[in-house]
Amino acid sequence: MSELPNENLSITKNWQQQLAGAFSNIEDLCRYLSLSYKDLPVSVAATKNFPLRVPLSFADCMEKGNPDDPLLRQVLPINDELTNYPGFNNDPVGDLASAAITGVLHKYHGRVLLINTGSCAINCRYCFRRNFPYADLQLSKQAETEAIRYIQDHLDISEVILSGGDPLLLSDERLSKLLQQLNTIEHIKRIRIHSRLPIVLPARINLEFINTLKLCTKTMILVVHCNHANEISTEVSSAFLQLKANGISVFNQSVLLQGVNDNAAVLCDLSEKLFSHGVIPYYLHLLDKATGTGHFEVTESTATALIAEMQVLLPGYLVPKLVKEMAGGTSKQALF
Ligand SMILES: *Cc1c(COP(=O)(O)O)cnc(C)c1O
Ligand code: SF4
Repeated sequence: MSELPNENLSITKNWQQQLAGAFSNIEDLCRYLSLSYKDLPVSVAATKNFPLRVPLSFADCMEKGNPDDPLLRQVLPINDELTNYPGFNNDPVGDLASAAITGVLHKYHGRVLLINTGSCAINCRYCFRRNFPYADLQLSKQAETEAIRYIQDHLDISEVILSGGDPLLLSDERLSKLLQQLNTIEHIKRIRIHSRLPIVLPARINLEFINTLKLCTKTMILVVHCNHANEISTEVSSAFLQLKANGISVFNQSVLLQGVNDNAAVLCDLSEKLFSHGVIPYYLHLLDKATGTGHFEVTESTATALIAEMQVLLPGYLVPKLVKEMAGGTSKQALF
C-alpha cells in the first residue's frame, strides 16, 4: 500500500514528532482556530490535573471560527468541568478494585485487558480515566512479564486486549516484543487493540506498524474510537484503507456526548462514513460518570430513543450497540 499518503507524510513530520508538537495550551489552540479565547467559557483550572492535549491533525478537522464545533467540544477545558454533578465520581467503572495484578483487568469471561500505558495522544474531556491514577496501573517491563505469566496460567483466556491509555503510544519495538510473547501462548486466539490514535494521529498507521502487527499470527482486531464523521479526514481514510488492505478487522466505538453526537443524523453519518471505509460500528457507550464530565451526559431515555431512530434509518449492521459499563458487571450492559 505504498501509494498511500504515508509516503508524503514521511517528508513532513513522523508520528512521534507530531505527538510532541500537539497543542498543550488553550490560547494557542484558540488562536489556531481563529477563536477569541476571551469569548469562550474556557477554564485553566480544569487543566490542572488533566491538561489540554490536542494533536494538530485532530485540530485540522475542526471548523475554524466555530466555538461549538463538535470536535472542539471534546477537547476544550471549560468551566462546566468544575461543576459537581450527583452520582459522578473518580472511578465510575470500578477499575481500581478489579485489577487482577498490576496492569491486568480480568473482568469478563475469556478476555483480559492489559493497561499498557497510562497516557493518550489526546485528552478527551469526557474521559473516565481523567481523575484516575492509570499511570500507577500501567505495565512496567517487569509487570509485563508477570502479566504474560498470568495469561499463560489462565487457559480460559482466549483474547488479549491491549488498552490504556493508548497502547499505540508504545514504540513498534515495544509492541513487537509484546506481540511476539503473546503469539507463543497457544490458548490465545485473538489480539485486540483499543486505540484512538488512528483517528487523532493517523500518521501512527505506517508501514512499520503494519509490519509489526504481521509478526503476530493470531487474529488481529483494532477497535478505534471516533465520535463524529468530521474526525475522518483524508489521512484517517488512508489509515483505514491500509489496515483493511492488510486484513485487519477494524471496529469503532463511540461515546454518546451531549453537544457532540447526541443527534440521530450525526450518528447515522458517522456509521455510514465508517462503513464506507470498511469500519464496523461496534459500541455506542453511555458516558461513564467520572467527576468533571457531567455536562456531557445524555440520559438513558434520550439514548434509547436515538438508537430507535437509527434503527429506522439504517440497516441493522450500521446501528452500534448501545451499552453502559457497570462496576462489577460481567459484561457491558446492553440498553437496546
Ligand atoms: C470493555 C471491556 C472489555 C471488552 O468487552 P467486549 O464486550 O468484549 O468488547 C474487556 N475487559 C474490560 C475490563 C472491559 O472494560
Ligand atoms: S483517547 Fe480514550 S482513553 Fe484517551 S483520553 Fe480519550 S477517551 Fe480517554
